[in-house]
Parts: sequence; structure tokens; C-alpha cells
Amino acid sequence: MNIIVLVKSVPDPAAKVGVRDNKIVEDGLAWEANPYDENAVEEAIRLKEKYGGKVTLITLGPKRAEETLKKMLALGADEGILVSDPAFEGSDELATARILAAAIEKAGGYDVIWAGWTGVDWNQGIVAQAVAEYLGVPHVSFVTKFEVNGQTARCETEVEGGREIIEVDLPAVLTAMQTLNEVRYASLKNIMAVKRKTIPTWGAADLGINPAEVGKGAAHHHLMKLIPPPERAAGRVLKGAPEETVQELVRALREEVKVL
Ligand SMILES: Cc1cc2nc3c(=O)[nH]c(=O)nc-3n(C[C@H](O)[C@H](O)[C@H](O)COP(=O)(O)OP(=O)(O)OC[C@H]3O[C@@H](n4cnc5c(N)ncnc54)[C@H](O)[C@@H]3O)c2cc1C
Repeated sequence: MNIIVLVKSVPDPAAKVGVRDNKIVEDGLAWEANPYDENAVEEAIRLKEKYGGKVTLITLGPKRAEETLKKMLALGADEGILVSDPAFEGSDELATARILAAAIEKAGGYDVIWAGWTGVDWNQGIVAQAVAEYLGVPHVSFVTKFEVNGQTARCETEVEGGREIIEVDLPAVLTAMQTLNEVRYASLKNIMAVKRKTIPTWGAADLGINPAEVGKGAAHHHLMKLIPPPERAAGRVLKGAPEETVQELVRALREEVKVL
């Protein structure tokens, strides 16, 4: 089975991200794999363990994203490809999807393409579906359970107030929910193996993409203002005998927070 996984490098979700001149402050910021993409990589490795084959990871981003790719390779994937070119900077979702689709086609045949259901930074939740459109294959989103049956797959997906069972023809694009699986730790053997792997970098010329059609200049939207969320006020610890603290809590919820 030939499995491709789209892995996005995002600011460490636990980090406090600052904003300056309408941009996030990157100095000293740690970059990690998008959490849902970790579940996508884990699912791909489990499929390879069950059916054999190869797992290829593809990341679009600047040179520093190579470290994220290596961390995900150490989970047990076979190959990693960094798609990077100054012409790609500031690309919107559609251009991002188009570039990734071109990289998938260059990487060769695929039976399944996994992605995360959304990127925790821009949270558009659209790139994977757009990749499916560019490749002309079906897609299933929010997958919580996945089973292959020959040339089709049975997917359980999370929907408002329930779940859906969807049968899809392969190849297809699927997006992973966090409940799809438990991500296993990288083994020392795999961590060491990654050190010997070379990660090719593909740019616009390698993918046959016209730089004028991607990047900031071709984006369908422009960022007007980037505003960090307001600082959260510190919480208040209620002390005293249980009866007193309960009374004080009810009073505060009624008079201050006005939720009772
Ligand atoms: C108003 C606005 C302004 C923006 N301005 C900028 C800007 O100035 N600079 C900029 O860089 N971006 C900018 N963006 C973000 C950019 O346009 C896309 O939204 C972004 O590239 C898509 O990321 P996402 O996390 O929303 O993707 P989603 O659609 O949420 O991602 C879903 C899945 O697709 C895959 N995926 C997504 N991106 C990648 C990737 N790069 N590599 C590999 N797999 C991937 C992952 O598996 C991910 O889990 C802006 C967005 C908006 C809405």
C-alpha cells in the first residue's frame, strides 16, 4: 500500500505566541507537527504494518519545517519530502492545496492520502479537501475509524450529535480526528535511522508551478490585522469552610459572572 501523509509544521500549540507588525513573533518559537497530522501519520504506519507498502510524508513550508518532518519520520514513516520555495510564501489555502497536489503527483502512485482535519494555526480545515479536488479523487473528513476492504474503505466519521458510516472508493483523501488512534512514541531505532535519511526539497520548478500563480501576490485574501487573544484574568481561589465557599461561589456566579 502506497500511503502519503500531509504534515503541517505549526507553532508549538503549548507556546505563547506573540504578535508584532501584524505577524507572529517567530524568534525562539518552537515548531511542531500539527497535532491531528500526528494521528494521520500514526494511521498510515498502522496500515503499512497491516498491508505492507510505504509511507511518504510531505510538508510545505520554509527550511525550518524539515525538523518537523524528521520528528514525524521517526514515528516509522519511510520517506519525507520538503516542498519549499520563496515563491510559495504567503500562499492561501487553494494555492497551498495546489502545490501539495503537484507534489503528491510527483511523488508517484498512492492508494491513500491522509491529512489532519485542520491546522491548529490558521484552522481553515480546507486544504485536504482542496487537494482531493485538484487530484480528482474522493475525500472523507473527520475520520474516527478506518478499515480497508479491497478497493474501498469503510470510514466512521464524527458529525454533530452522532457519527456517519461512509464507504469510499480508493484512492481517496482522508482527514484524521484526534480520536482516530493513539500516537505511539518514536523508537530509538527509528530516531537513529532518520539521522541517515536525506530529505529532498522540491521547489516551484521541480513541480512545474508558475510562481506568479501562488504566494502572497496570488492570495485570494489579505490579512488586515492580526490581534492576539486578550490576556485572561487570573482565576480566584475561594478559601474557607465548604459551606462558606459554596455560598461565596454561588454569590459570585450570580452577581459578578451573572450566569445564575
Ligand atoms: C486572512 C488570512 C490571511 C492569511 N495570511 C497568511 C500569510 O500571510 N502567510 C501564510 O503563510 N499563511 C497565511 N494564511 C494561511 C493560509 O492562507 C492558509 O490558511 C494556510 O496555509 C492553510 O493552513 P490551515 O492550517 O488553515 O490548513 P487546513 O486546511 O486547516 O489544514 C488541513 C490539513 O491540511 C494539511 N496541510 C495544510 N497546510 C499544509 C502544509 N503547509 N504542508 C503540509 N500539509 C498541510 C495538514 O494535514 C492539515 O492538517 C492566511 C489565512 C487567512 C484566513
